[in-house]
Amino acid sequence: MFEMQVERSPQAIAVVCENTQLTYQQLNQQANQLAHHLCTLGVGPEVLVGICLERSLEMIVGLLGILKAGGAYVPLDPAYPSERLAFILEDTQTPILLTQEKFVKNLPPHQAQVVCLDLDWQENIQNSQKNPVNETTADNLIYVIYTSGSTGQPKGVMIPHRGICNQLHWKQTTFGLTNADKVLLTISFSFDPSVWQIFWPLCFGGQLFIARPGGHQDTAYLVKVIIEQQITVLALVPSILRVLLEEKGIENCRFIRHITCGGEALPGELIERFFAQLNLNNVLHNCYGPTEASIDTTFWTCQRGTNYDIAPIGRPITNAEIHILDENLQPMPVGESGELYIGGIGLARGYFNRPELTKEKFIVDPFSSERGARLYKTGDLARYLSDGNIEFLGRIDHQVKIRGFRIELGEIEAVLRQHPSVKEAVVISREEVQGDKRLIAYLTLNLEQTVKVEQLRRLIQQKLPIYMMPSAFVILKALPMTPNGKIDRRSLPEPAQTRQQAEETFVPPNDEIELKLASIWEKVLGIKPIGIKDNFFDLGGNSLLSIRLFAQVQKAFKKDMPLAILYQNPTIEQLAIIIRQLEFSPSLSSLVPIKVNGSKPPLFLCQGFSLYQSLVSYLDSEQPVYALISEDGQGMPIRFNGIEELASHYINEIRTLQPEGPYLLGGHSFGGIIAFEMAQQLSSQGQQIALLALFDSYVPSTIKKASVSKSLSYNLNQLLKIGPAYLLRYAIERLSEKYGNIALKNKFIRIKKLQYLVSRAAYFKIVKEYATKYIPQPYLGRITLLMASDRRIQDEPKLGWTKLAGGGLEIHEIPGDHISIFQEPSIRLIAKKLELSIDDRLS
Ligand code: AMP
Repeated sequence: MFEMQVERSPQAIAVVCENTQLTYQQLNQQANQLAHHLCTLGVGPEVLVGICLERSLEMIVGLLGILKAGGAYVPLDPAYPSERLAFILEDTQTPILLTQEKFVKNLPPHQAQVVCLDLDWQENIQNSQKNPVNETTADNLIYVIYTSGSTGQPKGVMIPHRGICNQLHWKQTTFGLTNADKVLLTISFSFDPSVWQIFWPLCFGGQLFIARPGGHQDTAYLVKVIIEQQITVLALVPSILRVLLEEKGIENCRFIRHITCGGEALPGELIERFFAQLNLNNVLHNCYGPTEASIDTTFWTCQRGTNYDIAPIGRPITNAEIHILDENLQPMPVGESGELYIGGIGLARGYFNRPELTKEKFIVDPFSSERGARLYKTGDLARYLSDGNIEFLGRIDHQVKIRGFRIELGEIEAVLRQHPSVKEAVVISREEVQGDKRLIAYLTLNLEQTVKVEQLRRLIQQKLPIYMMPSAFVILKALPMTPNGKIDRRSLPEPAQTRQQAEETFVPPNDEIELKLASIWEKVLGIKPIGIKDNFFDLGGNSLLSIRLFAQVQKAFKKDMPLAILYQNPTIEQLAIIIRQLEFSPSLSSLVPIKVNGSKPPLFLCQGFSLYQSLVSYLDSEQPVYALISEDGQGMPIRFNGIEELASHYINEIRTLQPEGPYLLGGHSFGGIIAFEMAQQLSSQGQQIALLALFDSYVPSTIKKASVSKSLSYNLNQLLKIGPAYLLRYAIERLSEKYGNIALKNKFIRIKKLQYLVSRAAYFKIVKEYATKYIPQPYLGRITLLMASDRRIQDEPKLGWTKLAGGGLEIHEIPGDHISIFQEPSIRLIAKKLELSIDDRLS
């Protein structure tokens, strides 16, 4: 289906991820190259291929490559604990594992042959770009997705192509995606809604937009992306829809055409809120279905004013059947509740390596005369309403949904029981605030044993995904029992609203910022007291609570901060550092954290933010990164008396964070010159510089004006290489350089849209002034120069640094021009070279 779409619209954009994109033709060619490579490694129908990648263009190329080679993919989310990844790899024994170099070292021991998409890419380029011959049939597997298992281990659901073809066919014939549609991929590929989010647009000519990891729970980010990218199709779980509807700017999203809401019960009151905020008819659909039946099985299009407490799950999709049966497999009359069974062509083949469980859950279909017809026993309670719709009533067993994540409580209980002190463990989900379910663990201990909550949290963190972490642990003398000897889950006490960490780890707030933060945390988490070193997520903070917390933090400190900051800085202490830095603006706002966590010394990068921000995701996860910026709150440059003064100001800034060397410094373009001057000053103060990295920086005095003909041919060349985006870049640079002064003197400065141009103009002006005055002195240390291969001026071979690098000049040529070296794929090379240099110098 994808290849047919490539024929229809080869030049249309197929997939976009941050600043990078691929057309249908490019995506197809890259996937083909990979597929040919995989074929030579023996991939074909029924061969399972593990894929451990984060959300990126490579992930899409990887998935298509596996399918084109005829294989079935097994998603391995790099964010999962290594024990869970180890279990999946062990269970499936995948012969091949597709990944990226940066994940290889964190993978558990396994038997698979590793194919690194970034390293082995060259090999792929040699391969044919033609569609490989595919012998897969509808009965062959497309993927094996692991879902929570009640006995303590996850189970692999085997889905054949048939079910997904049917799913996409139903979606397309019912909701008709067009080539004007943009679909947002929000969910990790280890959950099955990702399958339609990826393949629906790719098979029917829409555009796939990949949200950043964690973005699906950051509603401010979602609104921003929806508006900026004009997203028309997305999926949300009800608890996130609730928060999204309260988000600033949501009323500007009325161009959305389709929202799949599902994964858990959708309250009727939330539907009314949706209509009140967005007023869109036939857009919100309540979709129901388990992983075992290929994504969605029934759906209901939400209507206003229907008075349902809980939205119906509607009727079956094309080629699906629903039966509501009693214990003897007899159909229940309308209005009476029974277990929901699913039949039809969407059914999974079964559970991987689990024939007994497969037999128990996939039973012979007593209503069908077709040979081999089966029904899947969902464990969901439901009933038919008199209008023909189906109503979801809850679960028969101990499976729960927390923010759409499917969790077998038994799996958490089994892990807790592994602790030598724990005798019994019961986990339940409680909903004290509407739409906010939390997991609570109750334990009894072996005689004379004790256990620290921290140890239990660590145990869970090692073995289970983070969404399975209980919010509270309650130790009881005995579990309450019913008269017939079963655990009485209803009589389990409410957890005390106190902090459950060991007392010795409690560190009280030290100043007003920390105090203010602590009181917000206590209010949001409902726990008291909270120490400044406690981790928000360990204390039961979840994505929903983090959104609430951040809204309050932003209000209290009157600062706009991206939610991602909380994920990188999950303690009061870390967050306070960032707020303190923001507090001192504009004079002390120069040190801007991009990534705070990590065991390595921080890398300080001068004069920029967005280029460095994109670099961070490619660097070692242990590498903290800070940007140094000299701008006021409006983005206008702050004037210093030359490069020396600016460098000394930056040094004061970084010393508040890292008082002593060895320092890691770097900068792009003019930022490199400042980093150079900082290195000079720091060395003369006796400090050690472990790294001075210059990204395509010229020594100012060597900059020569290129001749008109050279300029013209360079620009034409870049235009051909980069495409129309280069024109815009070129125009902005030129305009702000040439006409910036006029703009600066005039009132244009007040026009918001011209703000960027004006700030660039002012920046160029200052840079020119600084550069003409600056006479660099030879530096005794080593310089690492990462220079762009496409250079406007060819005269100065090493950009003028040879004479200045007394301790040696290490040169790496990076494919691309001054700006595109910070884009895919070159940015990977930059990150790799940096990492190698840092490791080398610090060792
Ligand atoms: P999963 O395999 O993660 O898709 O989870 C499937 C389970 O989620 C179902 O068996 C239901 O218990 C629950 N579920 C999915 N969609 C809905 C819905 N729209 N309303 C209520 N429960 C749902």
